[in-house]
Amino acid sequence: MLYMKGNLHVHTNFSDGAHTPAEMAAIYRDLGYDFIAITDHDYLLKPRYWESIPESNGDLIVFKGIELEYPPLRYQHIGKILGDEETLYIFNHPHQYRLSIQEVNRQINLISRVMPIHCVEVTDKGIYTKIYDTPKIPLPKIASDDAHTFEECGRAWIEVQSRRERDAILRAIKQGNFRIGLKQRPAFI
Ligand SMILES: [Zn+2]
Repeated sequence: MLYMKGNLHVHTNFSDGAHTPAEMAAIYRDLGYDFIAITDHDYLLKPRYWESIPESNGDLIVFKGIELEYPPLRYQHIGKILGDEETLYIFNHPHQYRLSIQEVNRQINLISRVMPIHCVEVTDKGIYTKIYDTPKIPLPKIASDDAHTFEECGRAWIEVQSRRERDAILRAIKQGNFRIGLKQRPAFI
């Protein structure tokens, strides 16, 4: 099976990003990605957000998604990615909150009472945060670039072994059937 290159964390001008969903989809298509998820902030969302997200751009699959804020836990952000039947939840950038490994596990356990957490983001704005890429956190680890502008696209990604189909991609991620890709060497340890 082929590896499908994708980014599960993208912002647009429907929250605090600079460009439209269609413009962001076009740049990732040009970068050779197979899929992206548009994940704007829930607390900044502008009207007509969901309708603005294209289904695809040529060969690029575009997932609808959202970045949820979970206020009980120091405003922890959770990526929610919608497939056809599948939904994927990601514990985002623990480095931004300077969480210890124990705190990450404790927060995931607490959040899991209201929504399942399937994987953990081990990048912070596209920079690899090695400390969280550990078996002590017993979930698959994803990389993303959390792009808000064109210049931020393509910094970190995942390569998923899957059929070219929405739910198959999300299931493969839940099963850990992917590897992470990084443009830069680790900077945050
Ligand atoms: Zn984000």
